[in-house]
Amino acid sequence: MSFQAPKGTFDWLPPRSERVLAVREALAAPLRRAGYGYIETPVFEDTQLFARGVGESTDIVSKEMYTFPDKAGRSLTLRPEGTAPVVRAVLQHNLHNGQLPVKVWYSGSQFRYERSQKGRYRHFWQVGAEALGAEDPALDAELIVLGARGFASLDLKQVRLLLNSLGDKNCRPAYRAALQEFLRGLDLDDDTRARIEINPLRVLDDKRPEVQAQLAGAPLVVDHLCADCRAYHEEVRALLTASGVTFEDDPRLVRGLDYYTRTTFEFVHDGLGSQSAVGGGGRYDGLSEMLDGPPLPSVGWALGVDRTFLAMEAEGLLGDDTAPRRVQVYGVPLGDDARRRMFLLVDELREAGVSADLAFGGKGLKGAMKGADRSGARFALILGERDLAAEAVQVKDLATAEQTEVPLAQVVDVLKEKVQ
Ligand code: AMP
Repeated sequence: MSFQAPKGTFDWLPPRSERVLAVREALAAPLRRAGYGYIETPVFEDTQLFARGVGESTDIVSKEMYTFPDKAGRSLTLRPEGTAPVVRAVLQHNLHNGQLPVKVWYSGSQFRYERSQKGRYRHFWQVGAEALGAEDPALDAELIVLGARGFASLDLKQVRLLLNSLGDKNCRPAYRAALQEFLRGLDLDDDTRARIEINPLRVLDDKRPEVQAQLAGAPLVVDHLCADCRAYHEEVRALLTASGVTFEDDPRLVRGLDYYTRTTFEFVHDGLGSQSAVGGGGRYDGLSEMLDGPPLPSVGWALGVDRTFLAMEAEGLLGDDTAPRRVQVYGVPLGDDARRRMFLLVDELREAGVSADLAFGGKGLKGAMKGADRSGARFALILGERDLAAEAVQVKDLATAEQTEVPLAQVVDVLKEKVQ
């Protein structure tokens, strides 16, 4: 059997691949307008960056990383998320010594060895944004609004925003202790019991119905927020409301990464079944210090491009993409001299802003005209030996079958006019 893409991965092929590029662009556009600069970090990093930054007790680090030794024996990991690499880059290049907050966005592949299913892949794409070095509820609200604007610009109607606060280093310990006490009294398996001691908030995120049923009376972090965290959260909520971005308070929202503090949020889509999160993020005030940096209170999010695409499909927003309009003009050269001339003409058209392709592989008239039809072009340019001698080319309108002769010297201008 021939090769297949590895399990949990897939190929983006034309014409859908064009649409996914457009989705990435649309999610990034609001960030650019808000002064976020583009950052690109390596696809692999020192394994310890994720072990420390994301947290040893998380599923990502304990089960899902693609870790390998390089030829010199260093342990490297394909990035499972973008925040720890961005913080690493900011610290390494001292960006935090300049204007704060440092605002950056990224777009790239992430890798997690997950159980693959629809909407959950081992290689997927995120557009992400991070604002580092400011503790300001307006910054949390700004990022959330920019995410919501990105989804709205794609005409998505069924994206809901869930919002919570996880408290900070002052109030979270007391909450954590209260939660642990509650959880220790439940009937849970050994793995989950172990998790109570390491990362009890994550138990709230357990999706199994038998666990969820027991969690009904669990203490909620909102009831344990200190005055500062409460005021901060109220301000974020007020700014979102004033911006017209609707949200739902979700006191049980915790996220799979260890570094979150205060504001946490998730964008979910109701048409996606169990893998409903199309994006998420929050504030991570302690991450920089976990990576040996100075205190750098920060907030960020990552939106899942593949799932956003599925959400658009679920809402019927992709339309019919079986008949792509790939190019506007298609060259049909007949004979070797004509092929050389057509090669140059197509180049001239492209340089003039007209998309153009030509028949390759020495096809005859019939085969080349079939290519013209398939290309989605509106006009075919037919160039035979006799046309060449007359310094002219036949321009065939493929919609009306009308054919006119145009001097070669004028055809670029004529087509520029026609395709507008
Ligand atoms: P996270 O980095 O886990 O907060 O994820 C942020 C967003 O990335 C999620 O809301 C999803 O839309 C997307 N995402 C996370 N994991 C996967 C995956 N395995 N496959 C596809 N998309 C994912």
